[in-house]
Amino acid sequence: MKFEDYRISPEIKRNLALLGFKKPTDIQFKSIPHILNGEDVLAIAQTGTGKTAAFAIPVIDMIHHQKKSTRSEGIKCIVMVPTRELALQIADVFNTIGKHSRVKTFCVFGGVEQDPQIARLEKGIDVLIATPGRMFDLVSQGHLHLDQIQIVILDEADHMLDLGFIKDIRDLIKFLPKRRQTLFFSATIDEKIKELAYSLVHKPIRIQISPKNPVSKNVDHSVAFIKMDDKRFFLERLVNENKDTKILVFVRTKVRAERVKNAMERVGIKCMTLHGDKDQSDRFNVLNAFRNGEVKLLIATDVTARGIDIPDVEFVVNYDMPDKDENYVHRVGRTGRGTKRGIAISFCSEEEKPVLAQIEEYLGYPVKILEIEKESYDETIDFSSANQADWRKLLKDEEKNKKKSRKK
Ligand code: ADP
Ligand code: MG
Repeated sequence: MKFEDYRISPEIKRNLALLGFKKPTDIQFKSIPHILNGEDVLAIAQTGTGKTAAFAIPVIDMIHHQKKSTRSEGIKCIVMVPTRELALQIADVFNTIGKHSRVKTFCVFGGVEQDPQIARLEKGIDVLIATPGRMFDLVSQGHLHLDQIQIVILDEADHMLDLGFIKDIRDLIKFLPKRRQTLFFSATIDEKIKELAYSLVHKPIRIQISPKNPVSKNVDHSVAFIKMDDKRFFLERLVNENKDTKILVFVRTKVRAERVKNAMERVGIKCMTLHGDKDQSDRFNVLNAFRNGEVKLLIATDVTARGIDIPDVEFVVNYDMPDKDENYVHRVGRTGRGTKRGIAISFCSEEEKPVLAQIEEYLGYPVKILEIEKESYDETIDFSSANQADWRKLLKDEEKNKKKSRKK
């Protein structure tokens, strides 16, 4: 079935055509009818399979129709997301798919001034995308009214219902009307969270695409065994052998991110870092520079792994193995998005092997091993510009020493 054949408003169809979306993806095909029916939906589908449009299309359509027949004020749908970057991205999808419709979308998040957000809210909007903390602040100060809400969406639902967010979410739910439609979307979910999710919905429709393999089929992922201290040489080689390709590198901590950046810059490779220590405008600028290809190498912590859709990331590198099993799926899922294919490589040191074993247990299969011959391993280190610089220095030093000894 094509989008043309859907019973959705022509404005939306036109926008989808402009985006180049012809047919729905599996998750869109399966969830759109249920959402249009007003049912609660718990949807699990791999990274990059178009979950955003799976809820944006029916929500825009429903609100658009409603606004044609009634003059209803107030926010009708809220989408809760874990990060500001994701809030902006999803707002963008709503605005693009909802162009020329009657649906007004806006997003709010912390870390920036509140007043402009309040001013915009007062003008009236239909769909609000928000991080829970800022949303709660605005509600408790009386700037945001949730009593007209008809639809509540949790994107990255398992993360939203996990420890860091659950309190905010519970607090917010108290402000919501009891009669509402609730939608959960995520690429990963575990039993504990599933139970919690069920307690928040009413007779939900459960949709799960390819539950056997949580990694998207568009991602070719493998592991290479590399000593901790040698990882930078292998990253350098990967970058140099893949000039003009976008590479997203994940590290464990902010400090590690800066350290890897310094190592790359020492060998003349331009790159940027993205982590929680940067302020909002910095994060925004860095992500934009990577998005439009000004910078090809981005070194990030897990903060940004969830949900972010950057076009044409060809490689994801796990420079450090991820702390949480499900983060493996979210990290490698930054490549191979939509119809694109992508490659993910994990650099696993001896110390990290137990982490790999745990990830494999989570995935339910062993990760393909990228064999590196000893010769090629040694070559990677020997040919690093870092080491060549050292050689040059050594040679020079030797030269000097010789001269000195000759003079004597
Ligand atoms: P997910 O939330 O499942 O990780 P996204 O919603 O971010 O995935 O979508 C991933 C990519 O797929 C986006 O770049 C989006 O534009 C593209 N996409 C979504 N739906 C379609 C479609 N029906 N046809 C073609 N591309 C699509
Ligand atoms: Mg998503």
